[in-house]
Amino acid sequence: MEQRIKGTTGLLALIGSPVGHSGSPDMYNFCFRYHNLDYSYMAFDIKEDQVPAALDAMRLFKMRGCNVTMPCKTAAAQNMDELSPAARIIGAVNTIVNENGKLIGHMTDGIGFVENLRDHGVDVKGKKMVILGAGGAATAILVQCALDGATSISVFNPDDPFLNRAKDTAAKLKSEVPDCNVQVFCLDDQENLKEEIAKADILVNGTLVGMKPHEDLSPPITDKSVFRSDLIVCDVVYNPEETKLLREAKEAGCAETIGGKGMLLWQGVAAYKLYTGLDMPVEEYKKYQAENQK
Ligand code: NAD
Repeated sequence: MEQRIKGTTGLLALIGSPVGHSGSPDMYNFCFRYHNLDYSYMAFDIKEDQVPAALDAMRLFKMRGCNVTMPCKTAAAQNMDELSPAARIIGAVNTIVNENGKLIGHMTDGIGFVENLRDHGVDVKGKKMVILGAGGAATAILVQCALDGATSISVFNPDDPFLNRAKDTAAKLKSEVPDCNVQVFCLDDQENLKEEIAKADILVNGTLVGMKPHEDLSPPITDKSVFRSDLIVCDVVYNPEETKLLREAKEAGCAETIGGKGMLLWQGVAAYKLYTGLDMPVEEYKKYQAENQK
């Protein structure tokens, strides 16, 4: 049995389905051991219709927090006592903190994106951005970058149900963050895409295009001359770590290309801070991971 677990040990967990593959228990338990915190972290397979019961259990067991993955993020947001500004605009949560029985929902994916850029010396404040995609990851990035001071964000998505979702989010941002000019276009409009990228500082692939097993694909940008030396190109896809888009951008001379792996790490760092008030021991965890993957 895990030596640390005692009668006083507080519980945190990941909820969603499936969760068996998740690296979160390993990461959080390492950090709790490292900081000598009397917490333990588990993963529970919870379907969407079980979310209200899971949240009742969270209160009953006085759990300190939960990370929430698909398909439970929206249902969880609908059952919170309070939401962070980003979670409220997005309508989804991936982190819940239990403050003495009050469940507060956060969305740390966008924070993870912003912090990963900061880690690469890039501040989104004052920047013009183009985001490809309007799904979960892209929406979190759109909202957080608007909240963190990006001056304009143009969203391009294929003509699928996510396009209308982007228009809804843009309408909310217009009233919530009026200083950020958010526009939504169809990805088929390649002329407009070229013009918007020409004005942008940062291009983000927020779609799943390029993710394994389709790593031979990159998002539809027909005119590759959009890649200029002062354009920062980012991808949310973290498997593979370097996507075809990032390779194309690097080969075309873009100075900075940033993959999705750091975003994944930094969203966890943000959640850890919310749960514990402490900075996650990132370097120590990376070392532990490397030693245990041998
Ligand atoms: P989602 O299903 O919510 O959204 C998918 C998006 O891809 C939509 O905008 C859709 O219109 C677009 N899309 C689908 N097929 C397309 C095509 N052929 N061409 C152009 N666009 C297309 O998915 P999600 O949860 O947002 O995940 C998207 C990617 O982001 C995945 O690869 C996921 O692993 C990754 N992700 C990374 C992080 C991270 O921390 N790095 C976090 C969340 C998700």
